[in-house]
Amino acid sequence: MKRLEKQVVIVTGGAQGIGEGVCEVFCKEGAVVALWDVMPDGEATAERIKAAGGTIFFQKVDVTQQEEVTAAVASIIAEYKKIDILINNAGIVRDRSILKMTRKEWDEVMRVNVDSLYITARAVIPHMKKANYGRIISASSINAFAGAFGQTNYSASKAAIVGFTHALCKEVGKYNITVNAVAPGFIKSEMTDTMPDEVVTKAIAMIPVKRIGTPEDMGYAYLFLASKEAGFISGHTLHANGGAMPV
Ligand code: NAD
Repeated sequence: MKRLEKQVVIVTGGAQGIGEGVCEVFCKEGAVVALWDVMPDGEATAERIKAAGGTIFFQKVDVTQQEEVTAAVASIIAEYKKIDILINNAGIVRDRSILKMTRKEWDEVMRVNVDSLYITARAVIPHMKKANYGRIISASSINAFAGAFGQTNYSASKAAIVGFTHALCKEVGKYNITVNAVAPGFIKSEMTDTMPDEVVTKAIAMIPVKRIGTPEDMGYAYLFLASKEAGFISGHTLHANGGAMPV
């Protein structure tokens, strides 16, 4: 029995890393996935998952651009008539300690990691409301809670996502829409591949399960909150970090 049979899902930032893992797991569970990304590589990712039997298509969408989001949502609705699940996964880092951080580096992180949630939520909620069903799940981070050196912009943006989640769940719960966040710990992806080996070794030593997470691990964390069975869980942040920071 597939858990997301014919459910229509948007995964933002799905071209690589965690987003790609979410697309793979959701497709295995029978979902129809719209993979959004600014990178054209999203096309190849969608083709690879499709070749493995998934129902997935790529839409080149920058989640900071209202018109692009509106147009992509309209085309999904024209084809499939509904959007069941929104995964706000797209995110960026621009790490630098506060006195060296440029205003541009601060603003870029806020625009992609936070402003995008305003844009995507306003585009999909009217359709979820009409269907009286929805799941909205956004990517926070362990660093929203632990903080990280050189990441004032990123940690602040990921904490904002938790506040957004708490507030939005109160507004849309009456339409049977749940709103949650996933706070990944240290996960293998292009975002973390650039870290020096000794930093990775030290990080693993601090993780009780003694490994870093995989995009597939995150796919299953999102799947749990996205499932119909999770209908009484809303306003929650699921910490998926191998026990690195019990919250
Ligand atoms: P990643 O950099 O590998 O992938 C992010 C994807 O988002 C990329 O494909 C990128 O092109 C896309 N993207 C960036 N800006 C976009 C925009 N404006 N519009 C559409 N797409 C855009 O990152 P990842 O490691 O897979 O992380 C995914 C999410 O999980 C991010 O929000 C990240 O902050 C969060 N996260 C990651 C980790 C980790 O250890 N990897 C830990 C905690 C939280």
